[in-house]
Amino acid sequence: MLDLTYEAPKPKIIAGATGDWELVIGMEIPAQVASNAKLFSGASTQVGAEPNSNVSFVDCAMPGMLPVINDFCVEQAVRSGLGLKAAINLRSAFDRKNYFYPDLPQGYQISQLYHPIVGEGEVLVELSPGVARHVRIERIHLEQDAGKSIHDMDPNMSFVDFNRTGVALMEIVSRPDIRGPEEAAAYVSKLRQILRYLGTCDGNMQNGNLRADVNVSVCRPGDYERYQATQDFGNLGTRCEIKNMNSLRFIQQAIDYEARRQIAILEDGGKVMQETRLYDPDKGETRSMRSKEEAHDYRYFPCPDLLPLEIEQAWVDDIAARMPELPDAKKARFMADFGLTDYDANVLTAELDSAAFFEEVAKGRDGKQAANWIINELFGRLNKEGKAVTESPLSSAQIGGVLDLIASGEITTKMAKDLFEILWSEGGNPADVAARHGMKQVTDTGAIEAALDALIAANPDQVEKAKVNAKLAGWFTGQVLKATGGKANPAVVNQMVAQKLGL
Ligand code: ADP
Repeated sequence: MLDLTYEAPKPKIIAGATGDWELVIGMEIPAQVASNAKLFSGASTQVGAEPNSNVSFVDCAMPGMLPVINDFCVEQAVRSGLGLKAAINLRSAFDRKNYFYPDLPQGYQISQLYHPIVGEGEVLVELSPGVARHVRIERIHLEQDAGKSIHDMDPNMSFVDFNRTGVALMEIVSRPDIRGPEEAAAYVSKLRQILRYLGTCDGNMQNGNLRADVNVSVCRPGDYERYQATQDFGNLGTRCEIKNMNSLRFIQQAIDYEARRQIAILEDGGKVMQETRLYDPDKGETRSMRSKEEAHDYRYFPCPDLLPLEIEQAWVDDIAARMPELPDAKKARFMADFGLTDYDANVLTAELDSAAFFEEVAKGRDGKQAANWIINELFGRLNKEGKAVTESPLSSAQIGGVLDLIASGEITTKMAKDLFEILWSEGGNPADVAARHGMKQVTDTGAIEAALDALIAANPDQVEKAKVNAKLAGWFTGQVLKATGGKANPAVVNQMVAQKLGL
C-alpha cells in the first residue's frame, strides 16, 4: 500500500477594500438512508409512488400509534459512521423537534439532538495530487424526513404528499474545516462517493436524497488558526446557513456570493446577522429566509415513545468486519498494484462500477494500458452517448480481448481503435472480428523490407536528404506504413529504415 501524505490546501482568500478575508464553511448534509422502509414504520420509501400511498398510521400520526425503530436504518448509520472513521455511540437517544407545518402531521420530527448515534470522524478531501483537507465530522444523527407541500397544482388550494414523511435521514454534520467553494464541492462529492460505496445512501442529489445546508462565515487571516488552537468559535465570524442545496455547482456559486455579501457588510461597518438563507440560481444570489430572531424554537425534549437506543459492541464489530473497500484504500491499491497515476486512479475509483470494470480488464494485463483504454476510449465514448459503464455495449472481456491482441503484436493500436468501433456497434469476439476484417499487423520483415527497398530505389533524392538530416527518415517510415495499409509495426519499420539508410 502506498503511503499517501498530504499537504493542506490554502484557504480561499478574497481581497476586500480593507484587506484580505478568508472563508470558513461547515456543512450539514441530510442523506436519505437507502432503505425500503421508513425509520419508524414499515411503509415503503419508493420514489414516484402515487401521492399519499406510502403512508402508515404511524407516519400520519394517528392517535395511539407508536414508532418502532427500523434496525436496518440503524445499521446503515453505523456503517456510514465507520466509513467516516467515526466513533459509534453504543447508547444514543431520540428527541422530538417540535414545529408546526402542514407537511408534518406529527407536529414534530423525531431526531437525535443530545445523543447522536455517531460521534467524531473524518473525511479526507483531496483537491489535487498530494493536496488534501482533513474535514472533521462532528456527528451523524438519525432523523425523520418531513412530507412535501405542493402549491402549484391548483390556484386556490395547496396539497400535501406524506410519502416522504418518516423516511430515514442521516444528518452528517461537519466541523467548520472547509475553506473555500471548491473544497466544499469536493467535500460533498467525497462524502457522496463514500456513501455510495457503502450503499447506505444512493447519493442522488437531483431527487434530494442527498442535500447540503452550507454554513458560511468570513474572517481575517490568523483568526482561523486561533480558532483551531482554542476551538473557540468566538474567533470566527458570524455564519449564515444556506439551506437545501442540491447541486455542486450551485453550492460553489452560493458560497462565493455569500462570502462577498458578508465582506461588503463588514467593510461597510455593519454586522452579519446569523440567519438562514436560500440560493436563487437564476439570480445568482442568496436571500434571507428567516433571521435568528424568527428562528424556530424547536422545544426539543426526549421522545417519550422511544427508549434510548442501545447497540452492542459485538454488532458494531461484526458490521466493521463486513465493510467493503472504501475509496481511499481502493485508490491507493490501484496506484500501488497497477502503477496508475493519481489522476487515473481518481477517475477509475470515482464509482464502484468503474472500479470493478477496470479490475476485470486489468487482471493479468498491463494496468496502465487498461486504464488508458478505459478512460480515453471507453469512457470517452460512453460520455458521448450519455451511458453509464453498466450500460456499456462493450464488456470488460471484450476490451480485455482487444488489449490482448495489441499485446501479442497481432494488431496495431490504430487497428485496435477501429476494432473497438466495430465491436461497439456490432459486438462479437475481438479476435474473430479482427480476423474477419483482415486486421493483422505485418511484423513479417520480408514484406516490410520489400516495400522499403522499392521506396529507396525510386527516391534517391529522399535518401540523400535523410542522410543529411536524420529526421527526414520519417518520410520512409510513413510511406512504408502507407504502402502496407497501416498494417506494419511502426517500431519495426523505423528500425529497418535506420539500418538501410545507415543512420
Ligand atoms: P447549531 O447547533 O446552532 O446548529 P452547530 O454548532 O451544530 O450549530 O453548527 C452547525 C454547522 O455550522 C456545523 O456544520 C458547523 O461546522 C457550522 N459552523 C459553526 N460555526 C461556523 C462558522 N463560524 N462559520 C462557518 N460554519 C460554522
